[in-house]
Amino acid sequence: MSQGIENKVVVITGASSGLGEAAARHLAERGAIVVLGARRRERIDALATELTSKGCRAVAVETDVTDKTQVQNLVDTAVREFGRLDVILNNAGLMPLAPLERLKVDEWDRMIDVNFKGVLYGIAAALPHMKERKSGQIINVSSVYGHVVDPGATVYCATKFAVRALSEGLRKEVKPYNIRTTVISPGAVATELLEHISEKDVQDDTKDFVAKIAVEANTFARMVAFAMSQPEDVDVNEILFRPTAQP
Ligand code: NDP
Repeated sequence: MSQGIENKVVVITGASSGLGEAAARHLAERGAIVVLGARRRERIDALATELTSKGCRAVAVETDVTDKTQVQNLVDTAVREFGRLDVILNNAGLMPLAPLERLKVDEWDRMIDVNFKGVLYGIAAALPHMKERKSGQIINVSSVYGHVVDPGATVYCATKFAVRALSEGLRKEVKPYNIRTTVISPGAVATELLEHISEKDVQDDTKDFVAKIAVEANTFARMVAFAMSQPEDVDVNEILFRPTAQP
């Protein structure tokens, strides 16, 4: 499985926990050079140190994806230190679920800023490098909630539908530059995602539901590795997976 992964320079946003952290470990252990972005500097520093001590290649760059300058710096650091950018995994996200009528307007803003605009900033930073080399892969993280909408998840779903729409347009537009695009839509995976739900009743219900069915974060990492490890003339555009027990 390390074919198509080994020696690739991979920028990962949201690498400090959950899916991003699992992907970083999985890819680094298969020979990728991982460039870890997240706000919690101590977490990504510790992960980079751990991976480096095992003989893997990893660097950490403190990054808030709501700040386009910081996202640009993340990508530019990868290019400066390792000579190129092969893959960007636009993974950072949050899911403070709540019914619309509770008017958690600040949380709506944060979801739009991180889940959607953060992905746009990742694309903006990566595209010029990939166009120049006529090579690269942009992997965006949507969700099962980018395919269906449940009450209480409306704004989150809207951001994840937006990521899929963006990814489909991107796919068509970057064809001339030989850039591959993948959107991955996970179902329930056990991570810290639910810790940031501010409405206690919603958090309790969601935790109960997820605890019964969630799969481990490495499931996502294997999907990323699958998309990356296809031959260069194969573009895996979309992966949708869910726990077998998830409706
Ligand atoms: P976690 O909460 O474990 O991880 C979220 C990551 O996003 C953290 O590394 C966090 O880092 C980062 N992040 C949040 N805000 C910012 C920001 N402003 N700038 C940079 N990084 C940020 O959740 P998951 O791993 O589960 O989530 C990863 C992605 O997967 C999200 O896009 C989520 O929507 C999606 N997803 C998750 C599913 C699940 O069941 N777990 C299902 C479907 C999709 P830090 O706080 O250090 O900045």
